[in-house]
Amino acid sequence: MILISDQKDLTNFLNEKPFKSTKLTLVPTMGNLHEGHLKLVEQAGSVSNFVCVSIFVNPLQFGPEEDFSSYPRTLSEDLSKLEKTNCSLVFAPKVDDMTFGIKQQKADPFLSSIMCGKTRHNHFDGVVTIVNRLFELFQPKITFFGEKDYQQLMIIKEFVERKKLKIAVEGVATERELSGLAKSSRNSYLSGEEKKKAALIHKTLINLKQLLLDFNGIDSVIQQAKESLEKNDFNVEYLEARDRYTLKESSDPNNIILLCAATLNKVRLIDNLKL
Ligand code: AMP
Repeated sequence: MILISDQKDLTNFLNEKPFKSTKLTLVPTMGNLHEGHLKLVEQAGSVSNFVCVSIFVNPLQFGPEEDFSSYPRTLSEDLSKLEKTNCSLVFAPKVDDMTFGIKQQKADPFLSSIMCGKTRHNHFDGVVTIVNRLFELFQPKITFFGEKDYQQLMIIKEFVERKKLKIAVEGVATERELSGLAKSSRNSYLSGEEKKKAALIHKTLINLKQLLLDFNGIDSVIQQAKESLEKNDFNVEYLEARDRYTLKESSDPNNIILLCAATLNKVRLIDNLKL
């Protein structure tokens, strides 16, 4: 496994002949790797003999009040974990190298204005700006993103389509703790007790799914689910039912995805569940 931390070195390396013809796959991450990230790497390895992972805490996707400076950075542990996978190359650039003179990109206005976009202004523009640069550098055949960040996945798919990039975007199912809590780097901010409580988001989505499948009125069950999370100390930012392909509001049980963002003791957690 090779570690490269500079855009120029990466370009020189990838321009060498043997790599030009490989089926290169790319897994973009912000590091502090857990089993969710490793599942993406594993899936990339199942279709490619040249898996690349980027590790970059992207400042452009954090708001001024968010946790950019405290976000966990654990490069040496991440490298040890990746050594045990079929990852061939890790790209871990410095902030200035990655952002200096970068072409700003825009996420789809509708997809980036709903749900997380309501409170995280410019977040998705920051995501697509860096992801686009990674695509330019790597020119992957396939890239892997987690369904845990479902809105992000839809935004990347739309971006690739709009820019007519020849890259397949694969979504990978959410990896969870035994409790049902979606694995996330931000879970490390939670105490043991809070982690137990945080699993209530997934449980609430499962209950909600069952209620909706039993043909209960959508607005009232969503309202009840929100209230029940709030009684358990969550501050619910949104809990919505949307069409899983367009993210437009929907009450058609066939295509619904339930999506939730809630903070528990200031730690922002997101999760989703398809009906
Ligand atoms: P991050 O490092 O949080 O930016 O995540 C990098 C990639 O890993 C994104 O595509 C995420 O959606 C994905 N990811 C994060 N957590 C999980 C999880 N629990 N299961 C599957 N994929 C995940």
